[in-house]
Amino acid sequence: MTDMQAFDHVIDLVGNTPLVRITPTIETTPTPVLAKLEYLNPGGSVKDRVALTMVSAAEEAGLLPPGGTIIEPTSGNTGVGLALVAARRGYRCVFTMPDKISEEKRAVLRAYGAEVVICPTAVAPDDPRSYYSVARRLVRETPGGWSPDQYSNPNNPAAHYATTGPEIWQATNGRVTHFVAGIGTGGTISGVGRYLKEASGGTVQIVGADPEGSVYSGGSGRPYLVEGVGEDIWPTTYDKTVVDRVEAVSDRDSFLMTRELARKCGLLVGGSGGLAVVVALRVARELGPDDAVVVLLPDSGRGYLSKIFNDEWMYEYGFLEPPSNEPTVSDVL
Ligand code: PMP
Repeated sequence: MTDMQAFDHVIDLVGNTPLVRITPTIETTPTPVLAKLEYLNPGGSVKDRVALTMVSAAEEAGLLPPGGTIIEPTSGNTGVGLALVAARRGYRCVFTMPDKISEEKRAVLRAYGAEVVICPTAVAPDDPRSYYSVARRLVRETPGGWSPDQYSNPNNPAAHYATTGPEIWQATNGRVTHFVAGIGTGGTISGVGRYLKEASGGTVQIVGADPEGSVYSGGSGRPYLVEGVGEDIWPTTYDKTVVDRVEAVSDRDSFLMTRELARKCGLLVGGSGGLAVVVALRVARELGPDDAVVVLLPDSGRGYLSKIFNDEWMYEYGFLEPPSNEPTVSDVL
C-alpha cells in the first residue's frame, strides 16, 4: 500500500523541528526570539539527531557489526536516542550509570529495551567500578561491542552541522542574526555555529548559555543543579572558535524561566531550555527590529516534574519563597 501517509519507523521523524515565537508572550523585546522545539523529536530530545548520525557513521566505518552491542555511559537523552535507533536496526544496548540516577530515568531506558548497569556514584572516574570504567570494560569484553563516546565523537557536532543548522537557516530565510544554545558536550553549539557562520559569511553571532560554575563561562567546575549542560572538563566535541560569547546563568534564574515557559507559552521543557532562554532574552534586549534570535530548547519538562515543577523542591533550594499563611483557594472552598 503506497497510497497511505505513514512512516516506516519513528526514527524517520527525527529532526525538522519547528520554530515558535516566544516574544512578546514571555517578554516584549525589540527583537523577535524564536524557539526551536527539540523536545518534539520522537525520543523527546535533541540527542535523537546525534544518536542517528553516530550509529550510521559507525555502521559505515565497520565499527558496529550487524547485531552488535551499543555500550555508553549515559543516563539521559543520548541513551533514549541510541535505544530508538538500536530498536530499528537490531542492536543491543547497554548503558552504565551511577546509582544516584533516579529510578524514573533507569525505567525509561529499560522501557525502550535497553539493559541498564548501575555503578557506584562515590568512586573516582578512573576507579574500575565507576560507570565510565565499567562501560570501557564491557566494550573490551563484548564481541561486536561499540561505544559512541559522545564527548569525543566528531559525528556529534556533525549531526548538527548537517541538520539543525540548515533547518534554522531555511526556516528563517537566512534572517537569523543570533543563535543561543546551552553547552554540554558542545555538539549542538559547535555544529550549528559552524553551519550558520558559513551560511552567513561569518555574521551570525553564536552565544553559549552556561550554568554558573561551569568551565565554559570561566568557572572551576563548581556544582550546579541544571542538568545536561555545563562541564568540569573541556570535551573535544566543543569548538570554541565558532562561539562569540558565553553567558553564565544561575540555577534559580534558569528554573524560574523554565516554569514561566510552561505557564506563559505552553512549552514544557527542561531546565537547560530555561537557561538558554534567559540568555536569549539578554541578547534580544540589546538588539533592534532587524535582528532575529533563535534559541534551542533541548528536551521536555516531563523528566523534571519532581524537581523544577515541584514547589516543595523549589522552596527547599530557596529558588521560590514558600507561601505565607494567607488562606489559599482550597482553604476557602
Ligand atoms: N540540555 C540537555 C537536557 C542535554 O541533555 C544536553 C546534552 N548533554 C544539552 C542540553 C547540551 O547539548 P550538547 O551536548 O549538544 O552541548
